[in-house]
Amino acid sequence: MNICVIGTGYVGLVTGTVFAELGNDVVCVDKVAGKIDSLNKHIMPIFEPGLEELVARNHNEGRLRFTTDFKTGVETAEIIFICVGTPSQENGETDLKFVEAAASEIAAHMNGYKIIVNKSTVPVGTGDLVHDIVERECRDGHKFDVVSNPEFLREGQAVHDALNPDRIVIGASHKQVAFRLLELYSSLQAPMIITDVHSAEIIKYASNSFLAIKISFINAIANLCERVGADVEDVANGIGRDNRIGKAFLNSGLGFGGSCFPKDVKSLVYTSSRLGYEFNLLKNVLEINDERVTRFIAMIQKRFPDMKGRTFAVLGLAFKPNTDDMREAKSVEIIGALLKLGATIRAFDPVAMPAAKKIYPNITYCPNAYDACNGADAMLLVTEWREFKLLNLERVAKTMKSAVIFDGRNMYDPARKERLGFEYYSLGRGKWPKSS
Ligand code: NAD
Repeated sequence: MNICVIGTGYVGLVTGTVFAELGNDVVCVDKVAGKIDSLNKHIMPIFEPGLEELVARNHNEGRLRFTTDFKTGVETAEIIFICVGTPSQENGETDLKFVEAAASEIAAHMNGYKIIVNKSTVPVGTGDLVHDIVERECRDGHKFDVVSNPEFLREGQAVHDALNPDRIVIGASHKQVAFRLLELYSSLQAPMIITDVHSAEIIKYASNSFLAIKISFINAIANLCERVGADVEDVANGIGRDNRIGKAFLNSGLGFGGSCFPKDVKSLVYTSSRLGYEFNLLKNVLEINDERVTRFIAMIQKRFPDMKGRTFAVLGLAFKPNTDDMREAKSVEIIGALLKLGATIRAFDPVAMPAAKKIYPNITYCPNAYDACNGADAMLLVTEWREFKLLNLERVAKTMKSAVIFDGRNMYDPARKERLGFEYYSLGRGKWPKSS
């Protein structure tokens, strides 16, 4: 099939590349010329394992093209995917200006029937909005359908997820158009859920919000554990082994960040309220999440009441492992708070340092975790990259000013770290520093 993908970010670039890999002719359009130039040279604008080879192969074989020219993309395509960003506004409302702009570009270049697919995460009703824009702005009155096909891929394993989705959700106003989408996805072995557009739009927000509920729930349990000296990791293990609950997303720590969960939960709260339902459960989920960094900083401050002259090694900057995405990363909040208190930061992340430098140009970026810890008063484990689990901590301890670890992700075993001579603190596992 002939496909056009608008937006070449984490979702659009992976989606377009995977459609090309499945044998379709794909044109990816982005408004940022620098991104398109880089992609045409096989230089990835994002870090995503396995993506570079896939882009290079499909581009070399002519199935995948990159352009800033909407005319080329829209005119040649039967199906057009909108994969642009949908950021949050101050009040939690989703900012739809990129979706609206994409819809206008489509309308301006329609040359026949098109299926327009919203893959961006958009509030319920956005399909109708896109429909109205295209109908209003398409001068030649071409026919079209608007479909919702939310994306569930995870950064860090996006290529794998796009090729092996848990399910494919298609929200369409009639069966014929849904079947055309089914055909596009037919080579993937995944359950297909066909529904109306509004239900599909809600499925995406409900999925992310449910996962956020699990994270805030276990963090609330962590608060309780701290009060009685219980271990939240054991509690999570005990709950998660119940098949009705499941182990996933029961990791206590600094809470959820990233480009999706915070904005999607806020958006669902906003949309619900606008529709006359106060989603208090989700408001509480956000409150619990917001307290996590405050709690972590309070724990550090209890151990180091005067931060001036203190140096902290921050291990991990990206919002989660295996990505360079710094959107709503906990490191940003933590570093900001510590700098405000007068501390010095030595940071390391395997891939996110270039992105982090745009936010904090004046902290010290180190070539590896060992170097970051050298001379530090404490190590702060902020992103649970696997390589941090494998660190030689005996070597680390020898170079630190004081062997203190604050583990924001409950990555290490407390007893083992203490045997190695570390003062070890984590969230939800009993021990807090004593007031000095
Ligand atoms: P992103 O910011 O990485 O990429 C968006 C891209 O769209 C950018 O390259 C930008 O230049 C381009 N763009 C913006 N307006 C444009 C326009 N009018 N015409 C052409 N290009 C335009 O965003 P992302 O992380 O890929 O997310 C895209 C959407 O997918 C969002 O709605 C997000 O919530 C959703 N989503 C993201 C993920 C994820 O893990 N990142 C997962 C599932 C769903």
